[in-house]
Amino acid sequence: MANGGPVEHGYPHLRTVRESVTALYRRLSYDTVRTFSASVAPADVAFADVDDLHLGAQRVAREMVAHYRLPDARLIVGFREMTHAANVELTAGPEYFVELNDRFRDHRRDIGAALAHEVAHVYLHRLGLSFPSTRENEILTDTAAAYLGAGWLLLDAFREDRDSSQKLGYLTPEEFGYVLAKRALLFGEDPSVWFTSPQAYTAYREGLALARRDAEQPPLRAAGWAGRRRYARDRRHAQGDAEAPEAGRETVYRFSADDHGPLRVSFPCPTCHQRIRVPVAGRVRARCGLCRSVLECDT
Ligand SMILES: [Zn+2]
Ligand SMILES: [Zn+2]
Repeated sequence: MANGGPVEHGYPHLRTVRESVTALYRRLSYDTVRTFSASVAPADVAFADVDDLHLGAQRVAREMVAHYRLPDARLIVGFREMTHAANVELTAGPEYFVELNDRFRDHRRDIGAALAHEVAHVYLHRLGLSFPSTRENEILTDTAAAYLGAGWLLLDAFREDRDSSQKLGYLTPEEFGYVLAKRALLFGEDPSVWFTSPQAYTAYREGLALARRDAEQPPLRAAGWAGRRRYARDRRHAQGDAEAPEAGRETVYRFSADDHGPLRVSFPCPTCHQRIRVPVAGRVRARCGLCRSVLECDT
């Protein structure tokens, strides 16, 4: 887990974040994702600076291990001087050595956040789920932590004031907010009541707005007027009845037709981002095979 440097904002990793959500559904299945409907409770990972450091770290580690349902895994948490915030040795187990940066000795309330990320590494390692590059893997790890109910702690560890800033994990605050919002929309949860950091709250509201926009893209029926109008023009073009749309405009949907077959449109599922393909035939109801969302479309 990285540490330090200026805090990056916005959505530079959004594509990998979305691919991570799809990969989670593919590897875990819809049924397993649903078993993570309860987030880590704030009281279960609370850690005051007066608590014993080592006993407290082991207690929080046990909570995380239980949350990710790793019954036989044992975490051994140590502290040392290091450039990174934290690190875990990914071995066959059942013992896993986690190293936390010495500065957590004086920032005990953030130990839960560091462990949310490190135990997510163990969970993904055990599932055999990984992306090719280290950077993508870290994004997958943060996304898994946030989507499965432990990663709100990582966003809450983001704090900024006039003189200093702190952030844990590889996602930007807004990207954490986005993944937490996607989870919130799925489970009907409101993580914002748990935030102690005002900056975390702001980033969550931003991410929530983007997550809601995912469900308002044509051909989904919830799309707004301007989007629907552009969609209609793009469809006429795909049917050969209109000029090409202005260059450089990016759309999430794509039209295609197999040899003289009917025109079809594909678009990302707003929940799991797997691409869905439906015929262009007016009002269509589609069901995502991966996350089981029912999608009302106007194609
Ligand atoms: Zn990591
Ligand atoms: Zn889906």
